[in-house]
Amino acid sequence: MNYVIPPAPQPAVPVAGSGDSFPVRRIYCVGRNYAAHAREMGSDPDREPPFFFCKPADAVVPVAPGVTTDIAYPPQTANYHHEVELVVAIGKGGRDIAAAGANDHVWGYAAGFDMTRRDLQFALRDKGRPWELGKAFDQSAPITPIVPASRCGHPASGRVWLTVNGTLKQEGDLADLIWSVPETIAHLSKYFELCPGDLIFTGTPEGVGPVVRGDLVTGGVAGIGELAIRIA
Ligand code: MN
Repeated sequence: MNYVIPPAPQPAVPVAGSGDSFPVRRIYCVGRNYAAHAREMGSDPDREPPFFFCKPADAVVPVAPGVTTDIAYPPQTANYHHEVELVVAIGKGGRDIAAAGANDHVWGYAAGFDMTRRDLQFALRDKGRPWELGKAFDQSAPITPIVPASRCGHPASGRVWLTVNGTLKQEGDLADLIWSVPETIAHLSKYFELCPGDLIFTGTPEGVGPVVRGDLVTGGVAGIGELAIRIA
């Protein structure tokens, strides 16, 4: 193949405890998947079908354990928010995957931040416009190394938490997901053929809020991983 310009590098996330990497194909995100967060966003948390948005694969910023990583405050926002989430890494693709067998498609899990330009997201939402400017910007997906499911299993419960400058801001439990990971995979795969390399950000618990330059943001998912970023 003779490319007319240099091809972009393959986005990838390290695998925990190894020198290997997980190549990222697409990033899917679930909106409002914890009832209390749906309420704080002004929505009815009744069990409507889940909805999805995407980030580009190169929005990932791998954050190594114990290493605080600088994330640039993004342009065109005055209300830049944190959202901590369990991230699912797909290892086996498929369409119309049944929830009962969905865990077989999961290669591993990570913790990640779905960073959000909330002012842009709300302005777009209120006009019925797409969310990309609010969600799909550069460096909007800091993420821990991926833990293989062969090591951590398929967690159905576990603390999800985030602090800003040492103050606890978000705290939830995977058991409180409105749509579980297998159910989310089942829904998403009705609309897209999932493929190895896809990541799914599964939604954030309540307590989202703004960060400013200089803030230290730490968060994680119990049994999976923790990450720390500095807003630069
Ligand atoms: Mn989110």
